[in-house]
Amino acid sequence: MKRLEALDAAWRVSTPAERLRALRKAAAATRDELLSGGPVRACQTVKLQAFPYPSLYAFSGGATSPAPFVVMTNRMQVVQFLENGALKTLLFNPSDVERDRAATYYVDLARTMGLAQKPLEKLLMPSHGTVPQHLERLGLRPEDVDYVAYDHLHVQDLRRWLGGGEPAYFPKAKLLVTKAEWESTRDLHPMNAVWYVPHGCDGVPDDRVQLLEGSVQLAPGVAIVSTPGHTLGNMSLVVVTPQGPFVVSENGVSTESYTPLQSRIPGVRAYAERMGYEVVLNGNTREGSLDQYSSMIVEKLLAGPAPADPAYVAFAPSSELTSSMMAPGLSPTFSFTPPDCGTLARRA
Ligand SMILES: [Zn+2]
Repeated sequence: MKRLEALDAAWRVSTPAERLRALRKAAAATRDELLSGGPVRACQTVKLQAFPYPSLYAFSGGATSPAPFVVMTNRMQVVQFLENGALKTLLFNPSDVERDRAATYYVDLARTMGLAQKPLEKLLMPSHGTVPQHLERLGLRPEDVDYVAYDHLHVQDLRRWLGGGEPAYFPKAKLLVTKAEWESTRDLHPMNAVWYVPHGCDGVPDDRVQLLEGSVQLAPGVAIVSTPGHTLGNMSLVVVTPQGPFVVSENGVSTESYTPLQSRIPGVRAYAERMGYEVVLNGNTREGSLDQYSSMIVEKLLAGPAPADPAYVAFAPSSELTSSMMAPGLSPTFSFTPPDCGTLARRA
């Protein structure tokens, strides 16, 4: 792994506006550095599970639709690269969609829905397959997985995959996680706890966890960069494909969150103009809003224009805003689909 020093240095600048200026320069230089290494060996994106999410948070209160929920769809990237000549497989955001429902947020939501829970779930939560189902379809075995990582640990339960008082589904996989995310998840502040699965990381053996400090290039065409804000130890995946780079996180819920002047979602453009904001935050957490804004600028510069329409950015939300009859006035204006590239292979 190679440190991406320019970004790390910019994050250490002490005042927020100066830090943002430093991050803009560092992100542009880092994009050039990542592009010069060429594309990743292989990457595929799959959909997992749709879920409802408060409209109030999705665009920080900027969208004017009275619908209480937007619909979002979880996605996972399967990335392969060479590390010292050996093939490595990374699953980015392999959400355990069955166990994630134990997050305090979902439990509270189910209680609010009451008798309407089952019919509403049918409408709001279509399933696109589990992690094991997708891996089998892609021809990969559990023992082929070397790394799992998440842009952040909201609503994640890692115990089935990595072993926490039970045999690990992935016998060899290590969790790549920032030190800040791991420490804050293992000892939750009350303002954070609602978004997490109680005890979702308990018992995961220490030798299954590889702590990251700062931003790193894992191999040519794939990097994990520090993008705090949505959570304290938030990070983003950067993948370079033959069509150009794309970036994954949940700092924004849609591609247009990064170019709100292009948004036709009622209210979003006017909100950004009124506030003088270049990006619109996914605003369910408040503790790191300044950093989150700066992180979104970093992501926007690393991603660059979307090939299909350069007015938008090649940003792929890890949970993407999805059109739904249950959320009128909250459909994405433009959807960036991360291009699949290369051919996934089993370990020899
Ligand atoms: Zn989150």
